[in-house]
Amino acid sequence: MMSAKTIIALQSWSSVRRWTFFGTAACVIVAVSFNAVFFGDLGPEALQRSLISATILPILLATPLFFYMSMRLRSLAVVNRQLGLVARTDSLTSCLNRGAFTSRVDQALTQHPRTTGALLMIDADNFKAINDLYGHDIGDEALTMIARSIRSVLRAGDLVGRMGGEEFAVFLPGVDEQDAAAVAERIRCAVNLVDFAPDGRQRPLSVSIGGAVFEGSASFSQLFRIADQRLYGAKQTGRNRVTIVHMDDQPYVELKYSA
Ligand code: GH3
Ligand code: MG
Ligand code: MG
Repeated sequence: MMSAKTIIALQSWSSVRRWTFFGTAACVIVAVSFNAVFFGDLGPEALQRSLISATILPILLATPLFFYMSMRLRSLAVVNRQLGLVARTDSLTSCLNRGAFTSRVDQALTQHPRTTGALLMIDADNFKAINDLYGHDIGDEALTMIARSIRSVLRAGDLVGRMGGEEFAVFLPGVDEQDAAAVAERIRCAVNLVDFAPDGRQRPLSVSIGGAVFEGSASFSQLFRIADQRLYGAKQTGRNRVTIVHMDDQPYVELKYSA
């Protein structure tokens, strides 16, 4: 499989120019050297003619061939990139899908094992009622708005994933407990402020957020389990709220979620 770097390199127009130029130049060099070696004993005039034809022929034949091949390579790289994007993205909300989010967080945790950060689990409150009242399409619209407001308060390096249904996750690299709580609160407020009025009347949206903050090494599954437990706690204590805990302060307790 082509690496991301190779795909990026191949999809540029300069790569088409480079392949065409260097490919053709290589053919000319090979043809001229071949003629010089094998027909070097010809008289100067015949040798000159053979060298001219060894220069012109590859230019006429190889240039369009290399141009065509590098164009095809470029199209392939562009399609490959688009496919990769589709495979990683949730089609409704444009967030990372569960698989892509999990592997990106795993990658971040392995690459920077001595850093701080937080995982937030976010679940839309009473979302079933929105579907029941306004239908699935309007429910989809509400989900898109929630995703947009989550993204609106994050920094460039933060990751947002849709974990399934009306549940999202956010990974905040480099934050401490205070920062994580502040970001979670910003998300909660941003969702509360969404202008959602499916029947002309404002219908406030809200989310409950559970978070796990880590320092040093942590695994995605540990963070996920603790953040999910905190989310359960936020639901149990009334919804539309944030509950965050530092992993070091969290004894593992099995909690069963029932809405
Ligand atoms: P709670 O506050 O406890 O989370 O209540 P809830 O109603 O949000 O939770 P519940 O698990 O009972 O219902 C989740 C609802 O989310 C039910 C399901 O139809 C809806 N849902 C899940 N995925 C989608 C989706 O892609 N589009 C729409 N429109 N609705 C979805
Ligand atoms: Mg819900
Ligand atoms: Mg849910």
